[in-house]
Amino acid sequence: MKSYVFPGEIEKEIRNINAQEIPYMRTAFFSQIVKDCEKMLLELIHCRDGRIIPYTASGTAAMDAVITNYVKALDGKAFVIVGGSFGRRWHQLCDYYNIENEVFNVEFAKDIDYEALENAIMTVRPKVLLCQQHETSTGALYDVKKISEICHRYDVSLVVDVISSFLADPLYMDEWGIDICLTSTQKGLNVSPGLSIVFLSSRLNGFQFAHESYYFDFEENLKNLTRGQTPYSPATTIFLQMHERLKRDVVLGVDNIISQVRKRALYFRSLCKKNEWEMPVECPSNCITGFFVRRNGDRLFAEMIKRGFYIMPGGTPDYFRVSHLGLQTEDDLNNLAVNIKEVENVEFGI
Ligand SMILES: *Cc1c(COP(=O)(O)O)cnc(C)c1O
Repeated sequence: MKSYVFPGEIEKEIRNINAQEIPYMRTAFFSQIVKDCEKMLLELIHCRDGRIIPYTASGTAAMDAVITNYVKALDGKAFVIVGGSFGRRWHQLCDYYNIENEVFNVEFAKDIDYEALENAIMTVRPKVLLCQQHETSTGALYDVKKISEICHRYDVSLVVDVISSFLADPLYMDEWGIDICLTSTQKGLNVSPGLSIVFLSSRLNGFQFAHESYYFDFEENLKNLTRGQTPYSPATTIFLQMHERLKRDVVLGVDNIISQVRKRALYFRSLCKKNEWEMPVECPSNCITGFFVRRNGDRLFAEMIKRGFYIMPGGTPDYFRVSHLGLQTEDDLNNLAVNIKEVENVEFGI
């Protein structure tokens, strides 16, 4: 199979780490791995003197942890930007934990109306704003720098889910004044799913977090992590994969990584244009390309699997998403487009 979903195609040497001997985690060796990962992650997200908390769980767990430890402790209204299913997840988490929240809806594939956003924040006066940098369900990239400027004007704390934009789109955690970011291993980090990461800005040093979730407790995790240990058994092999990935990423440099993802995205978008697949996203992330096929949208996903390709259905009829994370060449993308076009043109009998 060729993968245009997450995590995408991974180098054999990194994939094979999963087949190696499994290390014991209560060792100086493993503590060093964790510490190295923290240092490299903070460097790549441009966060000086911050902290990270890794959880052995998917990205949603990191969102959950931010709500129970941080948003709960703020004891005020949350403001949620909802432009698709991941924004809606912030809203659902707030409701689940009985946190009063105000939803700011953004139309499918549209950019945020930042003036309207500022007016809403002025009226609602929330304690914290929860959003995505990239709403992966549509492919829309939001301008976090603008969101952050608005937040700072009204003294609103900013939490950004960068799960699918970290290492795909420019992101400056300190410069943009983001208090918390979160990501997970199966997206920009391009390794196995199973670990999620919370990034805490140095501005939160000494913050009194809430204690509403035993496993995800920030304070308990942070205390253990000062010596490079997680309180509970971590997914050690994924840590080793992530460590190897981060070492390579630091050598490459974050700007180079992003420009490679962008180059693939722009190339595939030129193919979409040629094939007249409408790309509705006003301001697209480099991470994925979202497009409408003209025919056979109800068959495309299954037919592509038969042909050896994973692509993502988009939730909206005839809408599909292709990820640009992981290894892919122009030839690969040509081949993908040819196959989509072939399926589009097949006459399926009844
Ligand atoms: C993938 C993703 C998540 C988390 O999904 P999990 O399946 O829990 O890893 C959350 N937010 C965004 C923007 C995502 O792309």
